[in-house]
Amino acid sequence: MRRYGGADLFITFTCNPKWPEITNELLAGQLPTDRYDIVSRVFHLKQKRLIDLLTKDKVFGSVRCFMFSIEWQKRGLPHSHTLLWLEEKNRPNDIDLVISAELSDPEVDPRLYNIIKTHMIHGPCGTINPNSPCMKNGRCTKRFPKSLVAETVTGENGYPSYRRRSAEDGGFTAEVRTRGQTVQVYGAGDL
Ligand SMILES: [Zn+2]
Repeated sequence: MRRYGGADLFITFTCNPKWPEITNELLAGQLPTDRYDIVSRVFHLKQKRLIDLLTKDKVFGSVRCFMFSIEWQKRGLPHSHTLLWLEEKNRPNDIDLVISAELSDPEVDPRLYNIIKTHMIHGPCGTINPNSPCMKNGRCTKRFPKSLVAETVTGENGYPSYRRRSAEDGGFTAEVRTRGQTVQVYGAGDL
């Protein structure tokens, strides 16, 4: 930080125990939780590939430097946090090219759409599920559902409100079934 200033991107990468590279190597009757050796090795290889995508394939532009640390969640799955310093800093207008809190277009990229729908929706919490661990005094401590905004707004406190368009505004929705109810969601964490 002293030498390069604040990092431009903070990238969290989580492990999915259902990755075929993991499940294909399990013996009959084994679960990923039985084979931390396989889980750790596959995650390590994917983290290496992620760093190559960032530094050699330059998906966010040329990289000045990077660092990452791998942490383990309570159930034993690894995840990584990568800090990236870019040669050319992101400008406010670039934010929507780099990060999206919305569901993608299911026609253009159905695979990504289904990944977000399956893995990136917060909850259920709120009135649908008041006993969710995120709930304190009747409110979600992670502040879901986030409000719909037509454009990304960078706030004074350094926490942006990412673009989350309503259906009328060009946003995409998904129907997620939870606790016997069908709920319509707009983006990562809408439940
Ligand atoms: Zn919540």
